[in-house]
Amino acid sequence: MTSAMQQLRGLGVSEGIAIGKAVCINTRIGDIYQIPLKADEIETEIERFHAALKSTRQELGRMQQKVSRELGDELAGIFDAQSLFLVDGAFLDQVIARIREDHVNAEWAMQETVAKIQARFDAIDTEHLRERSQDLRDVCRHVVRNLRGLHLHMLSEIEDDVVIVADDLTPADAVRLGRERVVGFAIEHGSKTSHTTIVARSLSIPAVAGISGLNESFSEHPETMIIIDGNRGLVIIEPDEATLLDYQQQVRDLEERERELLATSELRPVTQDGIEVQVMANIDLPEEIHDAKRYGALGVGLYRSEFLYIEKSPELPTEEEHIELYRQLIEEIAPNPAIIRTYDLGGRKIAREIMETHEENPVLGLRGIRLTLARPDIFTTQIRALLRAAPFGNLWVMLPLVTTVEEIRAFRTRVGEVAEELEKEGLSYSTDFKLGVMIEVPASALISDLLAREVDFFSIGTNDLAQYALAVDRNNEHVADLYRPLHPAMLRMLTTVVANAREAGIEVGICGEMASDVRLTGILLGCGLRRLSVVPRQVPQIKQRVRELTTVGLDEVVRKCSDLATADEIDHYLSQNISASTA
Ligand code: PEP
Ligand code: MG
Repeated sequence: MTSAMQQLRGLGVSEGIAIGKAVCINTRIGDIYQIPLKADEIETEIERFHAALKSTRQELGRMQQKVSRELGDELAGIFDAQSLFLVDGAFLDQVIARIREDHVNAEWAMQETVAKIQARFDAIDTEHLRERSQDLRDVCRHVVRNLRGLHLHMLSEIEDDVVIVADDLTPADAVRLGRERVVGFAIEHGSKTSHTTIVARSLSIPAVAGISGLNESFSEHPETMIIIDGNRGLVIIEPDEATLLDYQQQVRDLEERERELLATSELRPVTQDGIEVQVMANIDLPEEIHDAKRYGALGVGLYRSEFLYIEKSPELPTEEEHIELYRQLIEEIAPNPAIIRTYDLGGRKIAREIMETHEENPVLGLRGIRLTLARPDIFTTQIRALLRAAPFGNLWVMLPLVTTVEEIRAFRTRVGEVAEELEKEGLSYSTDFKLGVMIEVPASALISDLLAREVDFFSIGTNDLAQYALAVDRNNEHVADLYRPLHPAMLRMLTTVVANAREAGIEVGICGEMASDVRLTGILLGCGLRRLSVVPRQVPQIKQRVRELTTVGLDEVVRKCSDLATADEIDHYLSQNISASTA
């Protein structure tokens, strides 16, 4: 351990400290460009193609053996289908012919050949060919990675406790990796509210994101010791001995603090002036249900049901799988409510492969409730399951990305139709659940008085609300510093929504990441919110903060803040004034 220590700064997106060995992952193959070749470069290009095929065959073989050992031959069989393409003479000959005849690079030749074959597969639309088409796409990506010399560590090859250093990770990658022996994430892309970092927090894995150039600088140091400081947004590569010892001590201190907080998790979150606040949990993964209870959550304020899709992808979850999970959620958290949000798929989020859409601006596209209504073939299963799970307890159903009153009405009509079907089938079900909407688009905040007449509750989704109101892509680290939940526009919308909900006499809560930030509990109470849904691990801390606060005067603090011009001024004012209103 010498002066090789290097420190990179990013955004701390999941708190805590992780110490481990780094494993680099390059996930992107990016765009494939056509590169014209000179005649004397052709043979070398074909050799390069053969070398990439060989590496891919070896990697698939290794994965197949591991899966066969651990999960059985049947599952390992899926690699057979992929490997077949790598020895399929007709297919490979077509790629090579393209390189020779069109004088183009292997990546381009392969992409064009695959596109042609897929067009033929698509014309004869059978399940078998759809699967083959997916295999072909996967194997093509794998070969292209090898053509580019990118080193892709497959999950199954990771054996030690590791910190993942990645250019980018999908939420699905994060779930899969997080359940392996991964103790931390350092990610080049993303910000605090991107779904990948939300998953890291769900799994209580410390993470730092938004570190540009991370992967490039890191590829020179594979498998070195690395520290992720999710509290300060630091990545320390090859720490010296003093730094390592210091961090090891910090890990012990954090564990001690966590134990102390857990001991208070059953205490009721009542402010000094006797106002009870319902602190609930946001849940993405089934294992978090136990965490929610352990940490003392008073209900599930948001279950992101699309994660069930991620777990089953590329299959769709069956009705029974939906019901089993919903029942578990509802029963475990009873008598408190379990708020299940219908699939928020589409957009740039997840599962675009099943959505069959190509959109220039997916975040403004067929997402959330829009997709639910457009694709009854996919969502009827979920609606049936919700109705069938409702009799098990206190189910509330919530719709994402609502922007119009019509969407709510259309959903209710759909529920009526599904209920009729279930009635005819003689299955037990209930439509007696509360129906609510996420307020996560400025339009819905502005018409919250109208929406409030149609539903039983609101939940404010500040992650998307900020994205759409402030024009800040929540996945883009370059504008992450513009994501300011205390922007005056956000405060104005929060107070409007709460006032409209109160006026209509419906429930209102908040489930965006902002609610998990203990520094903001005071201002949220000042806005009139009494229902906060947070990351399970944060529940004890938020409850403790509620117990420290008095709400007297907080509304005045909010009013003062609403007159301030910038998020910085608001931040500063709060730091001076909210602590003054604590007991
Ligand atoms: C939000 O947008 O604030 C929210 C809670 O939903 P998600 O993060 O799943 O988009
Ligand atoms: Mg959202």
